[in-house]
Amino acid sequence: MKRITILGATGSVGSSTLDLIEREPERFEVVALTANGDAAKLAAAAIRTNAKRAVVADAARLPELQERLAGTGIEARGGADAVCDAVRMGADWTMAAIVGTAGLKPVMAALEAGGTVALANKESLVSAGDVMTAAARAHGTTLLPVDSEHNAVFQCLDRTAPERVRRIILTASGGPFRTRSLDEMRAITPAQAVAHPNWSMGAKISVDSATLMNKGLELIEAFHLFPVAADQLDVIVHAQSVIHSMVEYVDGSVLAQLGSPDMRIPIAYALAWPDRMETPCERLDLARIARLDFEEPDYQRFPCLALAQEALKAGGARPAILNAANEVAVASFLSGAVNFLEIAAIVADTLSRYDPPAPDTLDAVLAIDAEARRHAVERVKDCVV
Ligand code: NDP
Repeated sequence: MKRITILGATGSVGSSTLDLIEREPERFEVVALTANGDAAKLAAAAIRTNAKRAVVADAARLPELQERLAGTGIEARGGADAVCDAVRMGADWTMAAIVGTAGLKPVMAALEAGGTVALANKESLVSAGDVMTAAARAHGTTLLPVDSEHNAVFQCLDRTAPERVRRIILTASGGPFRTRSLDEMRAITPAQAVAHPNWSMGAKISVDSATLMNKGLELIEAFHLFPVAADQLDVIVHAQSVIHSMVEYVDGSVLAQLGSPDMRIPIAYALAWPDRMETPCERLDLARIARLDFEEPDYQRFPCLALAQEALKAGGARPAILNAANEVAVASFLSGAVNFLEIAAIVADTLSRYDPPAPDTLDAVLAIDAEARRHAVERVKDCVV
């Protein structure tokens, strides 16, 4: 039995993880499930999987969780610290699928607890990559990438000969607005932005996919996960989302991982690794797909990608500022306070106003994150929708 904890169990990645483990109850035992405030969905999942503990980060939702779990024997906890405590309950495998910077402390707690951490929360590597990977090394924790692109690279990478890798090529679907003009993009609504053509995902990452910031965050994530330099990381737009990423070797060979655009495939790889397991995912029908298309990204219409590449090259605090400003900008877009094109403008403005030294602890990263948010919020106030 593999003992499993899922951080962000009520979200898109969390639900896909639950779907897989509930199909094989003889193989997986659930230790803890966490959410922010969705007590109803969390309690239902905890009861279905007979979890030991369920945790809501928003302590105000604890009474509802307690009520829903009354008489089940499942422990109910509330508060951000309780989320971190949940990863110290001795799970063998922890899925880190909280969205955004809220995931940083729980991811760090999971890395310090040891075992295997399956990482979906890309923001933790973007903002605190050096600190997080150092913690994983210090505690002998296995860090497995769940993001479909990084999972694909992980499957294609010859870890015995990293010096033979020439390039890592991340594929980007291009999002729902790949062919829209800049003028058309100004009028994009949140509902249009969260409707991704290929993947079903949470709201924040869907908007990031639409601006191509997601691909930029993934470049930074890849830099921390794999033994390559920043200039060995490339992006190519591949609208069909059949190839999930590629590794090019010095001899000219390119290895790619293909599959249906279903997060249960990379999650299953991380769940069973180094083995594989069955999934219910649709099989690839290459004859039906018939062709695979590729194009260069358009940096003019998608400036977020260039901003992320600059932050990656500059290093230090730049990625944490980029990430914090982007979270503020995306939340503001989703609430209707700014238009779609302002997302990149807010991120660029925040990067131009704030340039602290590189952080070397998680607390330093969180302080930079907080200050960058203050700058970004000020910039949001200037926006007219
Ligand atoms: P969702 O928005 O669907 O789910 C987010 C989860 O995090 C929910 O369980 C939510 O709880 C919880 N949460 C939100 N805020 C907090 C908080 N302050 N404290 C504790 N928990 C919180 O996100 P996704 O599943 O789409 O994405 C999760 C992460 O995985 C992101 O970092 C994303 O970039 C990454 N990722 C996602 C992919 C996808 O296909 N969705 C693909 C690759 C990476 P509640 O429901 O109660 O609000």
